[in-house]
Amino acid sequence: MTSLTFYGGTGEIGGNKFLLKDKGANIYLDFGESFTFGQDFFYNYLSPRTVNGLEVYFEFNMIPKISGLYNKDMLKATNLKYQKPNIQAVFISHSHSDHAGHLSFIDEDIPVYMGHCTHKLIDVYTKLYKSFQDIGTHNNLKEFKSGDKIKIKHLEITPIHVEHSVPGAYGFIIKTSKGNIVYTGDFRMHGPRADLTKEFIKKARDSKPIAMLCEGTRMSSDVEHNYTEEEVEKKVNEITKASKGTVFGHFAMSNVDRFMSFYKACIKNKRIMVIDTRFALILESLKEHISILPDVRKDKNIKVYFRIAKTCTFQEKDYSPWEREYMKNMITYKEIKKNPKKYLMHMRFAALMEMVYLQPKSSDFIYSSSEHFYEGEENLEERTIWENWMKHFKITFHKAHCSGHADKAALTETIKTINPKVLIPIHTQVPEEFKKLHKNVILPVKNKTIEL
Ligand SMILES: [Zn+2]
Ligand SMILES: [Zn+2]
Repeated sequence: MTSLTFYGGTGEIGGNKFLLKDKGANIYLDFGESFTFGQDFFYNYLSPRTVNGLEVYFEFNMIPKISGLYNKDMLKATNLKYQKPNIQAVFISHSHSDHAGHLSFIDEDIPVYMGHCTHKLIDVYTKLYKSFQDIGTHNNLKEFKSGDKIKIKHLEITPIHVEHSVPGAYGFIIKTSKGNIVYTGDFRMHGPRADLTKEFIKKARDSKPIAMLCEGTRMSSDVEHNYTEEEVEKKVNEITKASKGTVFGHFAMSNVDRFMSFYKACIKNKRIMVIDTRFALILESLKEHISILPDVRKDKNIKVYFRIAKTCTFQEKDYSPWEREYMKNMITYKEIKKNPKKYLMHMRFAALMEMVYLQPKSSDFIYSSSEHFYEGEENLEERTIWENWMKHFKITFHKAHCSGHADKAALTETIKTINPKVLIPIHTQVPEEFKKLHKNVILPVKNKTIEL
């Protein structure tokens, strides 16, 4: 018997959590958290109590109530009895929380496999944002690289790199007793590393899969212009060229392609890219795996921003030991304020405070993060605050962004090329749209099993 059970990622973008069972082998593909996790029952100060374990999550069916999966500690206040796990592996496609966010719940003896870069990113984000990202303890965490062949009982799992909005993203080809199953993870092919996705598609096609789990984040969005990373770089370059003050850019720190687009715009316009200490730490930890990244300690085109702290004199003791590492390449608001046109500065929401010291004049701001987030009603409050700060300092607002996901045309092409026997749409709000592209589509249902 070969089957797939879907504990998330059905009819929704994210929350991927798929159990593959094949002749005694049980593995999970991703173990993520839905973007809407807990939204129906919790709001603001009303948040689930988690110190005692998973009982609140079980109460509202927020996570599947399955024995032999969670760790002992998580079950102590629940009526689910702890059982030794019968799961041989959890494979994580990439570091985003909708794919890895619930790892902290599982039994620490279950082996967890992830790409080397994914592991690095998770480690550095845990160091910086412990309360947001913590995958818990795992006694058996193994790293893989593209093309490895990993044996789990009789199964053979091959991760292949894909391009996405975060480095270290993978799709998988899984050899089962029934034939090959392909799982795309999240992917795109309109950026500088489209070659990675193309390699995955080719290998997936050659495996002649009996089934493919295919993401479809942008299956419905064929109306707007589909920007490429190259176009984003061009737009950032044009805005920077025309700006008479400091240019501020907002984008995810884990989005290395986007960083490179801004960095290249800086070089073209003879500006210095300013990043804060957190961003410096992230780039430095990724450099080992991504050689095109500049050296944040030495690169002449980069300065590391130090915020004003306790003594107001920028002394070592004002900062954490890991931040002090970057002091040799330090910049403060004073230098930027003196010569604002010389800099392009990365700006996080939590760092908006710096504007008070920078006092920007004739500045431009480029919002270069998910439109989905920016336009989403649930984020209206944050959006208003961004806009109020911009208005207050008379900063011109621009948008330049492209998605981390393949658009409808690219998805269509991918499905046509790989041509699986059965197509299973996941990570999409419009799974039924896939029926227009393939003759044998099975729509997955949450907590239900599909026999292959
Ligand atoms: Zn995702
Ligand atoms: Zn993702």
